[in-house]
Amino acid sequence: MLNIILFGPPGAGKGTQSTFLVEEYGLVHLSTGDIFRANIKGSTELGQLAQSYMDKGQLVPDDVTIRMLESEVNKFPDAKGFIFDGFPRTTTQAVALDSFLEGRGTPVSCMLALDVEEEELKSRLIARAETSGRADDADPAVIQNRINVYRKETEPVAEHYAAQGKYTGIDGIGTIEEITDRLKAAIPAV
Ligand code: ADP
Repeated sequence: MLNIILFGPPGAGKGTQSTFLVEEYGLVHLSTGDIFRANIKGSTELGQLAQSYMDKGQLVPDDVTIRMLESEVNKFPDAKGFIFDGFPRTTTQAVALDSFLEGRGTPVSCMLALDVEEEELKSRLIARAETSGRADDADPAVIQNRINVYRKETEPVAEHYAAQGKYTGIDGIGTIEEITDRLKAAIPAV
């Protein structure tokens, strides 16, 4: 079982790269942002709650996010593995994910962290707003808030996995293919 955490700031290319890794390794892609957006579209109770945080560039509370993620994983009992994209975003989420996956006998294999500088992130997100229709991409103040939240709440999660010897940093600047190749080279053989 291959359980990959694809990590990095907003706009680093996690969603784009997930598509290629899913094809190559036959993994289930779980993007918490995508799942929240699907709930917003379906006007579920979870969607309404999530939207109030997402529109401001804040994190959805840990308890809600963890419960949702675990129930998503449980929908795929036959999965060969997962790509976690946008999760865990806090140390509390990381601790919960570790104990949940260890309880299933399928621990996190590795964290691959895409490294992209802040100015590049901002211009990618503003460009993405043209096509994504995402309110949180369209407003520079919300983009800045997402980056600030990332630095404060999310970046420490990298240290959590580095301490377990599971962290690899990947240069996130280059063509999509170049970055996919760097990621593949860092994925452990199972
Ligand atoms: P990006 O990485 O480009 O910011 P995502 O689609 O991953 O976009 O996330 C969009 C928003 O969804 C986040 O800004 C946050 O409000 C919410 N979200 C996604 N994943 C999580 C998470 N693991 N914990 C809390 N909130 C989350």
